[in-house]
Amino acid sequence: MKPIATQIEDLGQLTELDATKRRLESGSSEFKKITIECNQVRERLPAAILHHYDLRISKGKRGAAKMRNKVCGGCFISLPSGQLADMLRVDMELQICGNCSIFILPGDTPPEAPAAAIELVTKPAPRKRKVKKVEPPSTEEES
Ligand SMILES: [Zn+2]
Repeated sequence: MKPIATQIEDLGQLTELDATKRRLESGSSEFKKITIECNQVRERLPAAILHHYDLRISKGKRGAAKMRNKVCGGCFISLPSGQLADMLRVDMELQICGNCSIFILPGDTPPEAPAAAIELVTKPAPRKRKVKKVEPPSTEEES
């Protein structure tokens, strides 16, 4: 099974690409380029995640948002402490907001730890562990 950190990274990347795509004129060369990049990222994500993501996109919503200040980046409602604690675990599952059901990505700055989770935070984070990824074939054909 892939480390969750990789999935979160990919999901964050996909969200940014889709956001960029929305600002572009459909059919433009930039739009096509981003679409190809999107597809490359999508190949790395599990179908279940993509299904939930696409469902949101099809409703005109964002698929994932970064957590900011213990608050969901999608609906700005405070996340329950249990979920915050889960997000600090290295083996956590991808979290979905209980209110707006957006995928919650960890923010750029680590959240202030709930008391119960301090022990987990002070551990050295094994997130830098790099896992060799299999590159999708023929990614450079578009020129
Ligand atoms: Zn939310």
